[in-house]
Amino acid sequence: MKKLYNKKTCIICDKEKVEGMHVYTAFICWECERDIVQTEPEEEEYADLVKKLSKIRKSSVLS
Ligand SMILES: [Zn+2]
Repeated sequence: MKKLYNKKTCIICDKEKVEGMHVYTAFICWECERDIVQTEPEEEEYADLVKKLSKIRKSSVLS
C-alpha cells in the first residue's frame, strides 16, 4: 500500500508541511499555528501574522 503524504505550503513560513490546519483556502502548519497562539498581540510579530492572515481572507472573498 502506498502512503500518500499530501504536502501543502504553509502561508506563514512558506515551508512544505504535511500536518497543519486549513483556514479558508490557505494552509497553516502546526508549528506556525502554535506560534500564533503563543504570540502576544503587543508583539510586532503578531501584526505580521495578522497581515498574512488577512491575505487569506481577501483571497477567499475573491474565490
Ligand atoms: Zn508554517
